[in-house]
Amino acid sequence: MLNMQKEQLAMYGAKPVREKMLPYGKQWVDETDIENVVNVLRSDFLSSGPEIPKFEEALAREAGTRYAVAFSSGTAALHAACFAAGVETGSEVITSPLTFAASSNCILYTGGKPVFADIDPLTFNIDSQEVYKKITPNTKALIIVDFAGQPAQYNELYDMASNHGLVTIRDAAHSIGSIYKERRPGMSTDMTIFSFHPVKHITTGEGGAVVTDREDFYHQLLMFRNHGITRDEQMLEQQNSPKWYYEMQFLGYNYRITDIQAALGTSQLKRLEQFVKRRRELAVLYNKAFEQMPGLAFQQQAEEVSSSWHLYPLRWKKDFFSVSRDTIFQALLAENIGVNLHYIPVYLHPYYQSLGYQRGICPNAEAVYEELITIPLFPLMTDRDLQDVVDAVVKVYNYFLK
Ligand SMILES: *Cc1c(COP(=O)(O)O)cnc(C)c1O
Repeated sequence: MLNMQKEQLAMYGAKPVREKMLPYGKQWVDETDIENVVNVLRSDFLSSGPEIPKFEEALAREAGTRYAVAFSSGTAALHAACFAAGVETGSEVITSPLTFAASSNCILYTGGKPVFADIDPLTFNIDSQEVYKKITPNTKALIIVDFAGQPAQYNELYDMASNHGLVTIRDAAHSIGSIYKERRPGMSTDMTIFSFHPVKHITTGEGGAVVTDREDFYHQLLMFRNHGITRDEQMLEQQNSPKWYYEMQFLGYNYRITDIQAALGTSQLKRLEQFVKRRRELAVLYNKAFEQMPGLAFQQQAEEVSSSWHLYPLRWKKDFFSVSRDTIFQALLAENIGVNLHYIPVYLHPYYQSLGYQRGICPNAEAVYEELITIPLFPLMTDRDLQDVVDAVVKVYNYFLK
């Protein structure tokens, strides 16, 4: 069997659709971005200077919230959001299994227990009914992931959370620039987090943020980022303190972002709209190319949402093909198409298995995962690049079709 797969793959190596590998995602840093970063390097502050509040103001405007707090990564932002939400030992937090491990690891960092609710097999987002079934008296919060950039069902989820006194956290690492029922991404939950890793919509190298309307959360997030320290007179426990005085009131971390990164972020944010517009154009072209191919399914879009298309996940329905998803994946790589896989359901990772999570708890997520392949999508992709991907998909599809 293995040999046969090798022979089949040899065909691709002989004459790939593309000469050079097309990555699945890539940042777009231009000369203005570089100039803005260099200006900070020549200034008085490399960290904790004026670029951070500037970036945070721009982020809050983009998200439609009163406050934004920038962090050293999206993961740090998630950790801070869990802390502010009051997640602690004994808390349960419901999240999606079809996500990057960080969406769930942040619950473990604060001593909580991740509880996985299954996804809708068509939109790949968490299924509200499944969330409802998992709520117990110990549930403290929801962490909702906008898979590939498509907003989840926030009206239903928020109502459900309100009825049970749960804090809602939106993991919008994929979905800055998306719209849900005419609302910006910070407007549907208590807190929303973004990531600025280079594969995401805008980048700061590494970086992240939490946006919120809640003043109490805002203060907690600021302190959590800086060891649990405050200098704010209104927050101090000691009265009539001297000017230099500060207090560490809980155990926080050094999760600060630098001014160098913040300047890059502000500069990138100005082009977010252009980036997302191009991603949407490319996604429409992909959808059109694949809609007549019954062995493929792309991510179905719910009503009244506009995805920001961080990823383009393509489902290869196993009944249609003579080989496994992994062989199809290798064949696409042999065509020099930089495919990827998003995601192994979090609880199938060995660490989560060692915590006692059982295979089979989210059957939809497992079934979808077994058939998914992410194909390239990033704003610098040309129409020619897109055509190469489509040609490779069609070639591999026809070759392995039963
Ligand atoms: C990228 C990502 C994160 C983590 O962000 P980092 O900035 O890499 O720490 C969290 N959740 C999801 C869904 C992500 O894709």
